[in-house]
Amino acid sequence: MSSEVFTVECPCGAVMSESEMAVLTKVVQEHAQSNHDMVLSAEDVQDMAH
Ligand SMILES: [Zn+2]
Repeated sequence: MSSEVFTVECPCGAVMSESEMAVLTKVVQEHAQSNHDMVLSAEDVQDMAH
C-alpha cells in the first residue's frame, strides 16, 4: 500500500500535508486566501506540491 502524501510549503513557513491532492488543494487555497489575500488556482497548488 502506498502512503503517498502531498506537501506544500508556503513561503511564510506554513507546511500543509494531505494524502489527497483534492483536499490539499482546498487547504492551500484557503490558507493563501485568508493569510496572504492570494487566490491560487488548483494548478498553482499542484505546481507547489511535492
Ligand atoms: Zn502562507
